Amino acid sequence: MDDCQKKYERLQLLFKNAPSTLIGIDPNGSLTDWNIKAEIAFGRKESEVVGKSFLQMLVAPSSQESVENLFRETVTSVTEASKPIQINALKKDGSTFPIELVLIPIRTKDDFTIYARFLDVTEAKKQEADLKKASKFLNAIVENIPDMIFIKEAKELRFTRFNKAGEELLGYSQADLIGKNDYDFFPQKEADFFTSIDRNVLDHKRLVEIPEEPIQTRYKGQRLLHTKKVPIYDENGQPEFLLGISEDITEKKQAEKTQRKLWQEQEARKEAEKALQLRDEFISIAAHELRTPLTTLSLQIQLLNKFAPHLDTAHMAKFSSMMASSQDQLNRFEKLVEDLLDVSRASAGMLIVEKTKENLSDIVAQVTKSLEARLTKANCQLKLTLDSSVIGSWDKIRIEQLVINLLSNAIKYGPGKPIEIIAKTENDKAILVMRDQGIGIAKEDQERIFNRFERAVSVKKYGGLGLGLYISQQIVTAHGGQIHVQSEIGKGTTFTVELPLS
Ligand code: ADP
Repeated sequence: MDDCQKKYERLQLLFKNAPSTLIGIDPNGSLTDWNIKAEIAFGRKESEVVGKSFLQMLVAPSSQESVENLFRETVTSVTEASKPIQINALKKDGSTFPIELVLIPIRTKDDFTIYARFLDVTEAKKQEADLKKASKFLNAIVENIPDMIFIKEAKELRFTRFNKAGEELLGYSQADLIGKNDYDFFPQKEADFFTSIDRNVLDHKRLVEIPEEPIQTRYKGQRLLHTKKVPIYDENGQPEFLLGISEDITEKKQAEKTQRKLWQEQEARKEAEKALQLRDEFISIAAHELRTPLTTLSLQIQLLNKFAPHLDTAHMAKFSSMMASSQDQLNRFEKLVEDLLDVSRASAGMLIVEKTKENLSDIVAQVTKSLEARLTKANCQLKLTLDSSVIGSWDKIRIEQLVINLLSNAIKYGPGKPIEIIAKTENDKAILVMRDQGIGIAKEDQERIFNRFERAVSVKKYGGLGLGLYISQQIVTAHGGQIHVQSEIGKGTTFTVELPLS
């Protein structure tokens, strides 16, 4: 075998076993050569096809015209391989399948054969169809999400994508929006704001959330959006797009506002009802409190009237004791009325203080003296620790009233127990401490007892209008000071007052 023959055989083998589907056709369109891949692809042996029309044998009727045209062109004028065309090929069993065809004219000195190379595109077609399906699915999702979704390219922040919800919200069609940026649709200030956030997202490669952003729309006026913006990266990890998702929260916010208003109104109504109830309670307590001294007084006056004509030395002592008791009841009555007046003054912000130079220790000493009878009657021992000069600028009458209120409570809520009063100066402040060992005040009541009409004891057991501490606090506040309570149920109570010296 000479070299030429060997080479021919090698090429023959290469053609037969080539990994592509290859066939040879003579210029008349009859099949001349057929390789193994062709056998597999078309389901026919070489012996069945050689000499037959390749068009009839291998091409589905739907593609015959285009293949015939390409073949004619290749035979007559073309010297190079044709452009690939997509055709439907025909199998032996009559089924068809898509395939890509290239015709390659091979001319030698005394032979002209056209080789056809087929490339199976079934897989590629399937992949393309799958891709189309997936992208259609994704599109459907993006289009039907009820939130606005938009994509901007990273360079000039122009819109490249906008969904239906976005169109409806902004009032512009996709065609209007694509290729434009925020400055084409929104007022300068708004556009500046959106753009600065976009840049932040892209420059720092991070998600940015804007819980509430107002946006001017074409037909729906101003709306409130909750927006999230995220960068989308290219294959090098650089932000290529910006994805934005915006939920229209205008109605939600409005509903929240209405709900809040409703709730506030409800609270106000509850407050008003409570105030009304408190007022009714107060009126009944006040009536009771005011009636007690009046009843006693009127009884005593009746008795005095009865005794007056028969007065002799024997009745004189009885007479003066009744006079003293009447005075007591009158004082009590007066105090109740004064307290009521103070409450209305304080509520109207008219608790005026007239300051003069005073010594707190002196005021305490005077007050304790005036309440000596009550202290003795209640069997309360008094311990006074009064610095000699606790000098400051205060309203004497009001400070007296404060000491009376605190000491009266200490007697009322701690009969039979000792009471301690301290007056001293500490860091530019006068300190007054009133300590008893009485019934004490529960933790949960310690704040509210300073409010008007608030009491932490039963009406039946202890009389009172619940005004003493309120007025005391008003007096202290009017002097720029503070009052605190420390107490434990059953152990006693300490009130501490701090008053600025000037
Ligand atoms: P009132 O004594 O007329 O009820 P106050 O305003 O003086 O009114 O006091 C409010 C409430 O605080 C009292 O009802 C009582 O429950 C409580 N309270 C005040 N001082 C004392 C105290 N020294 N010990 C125990 N409880 C007290």
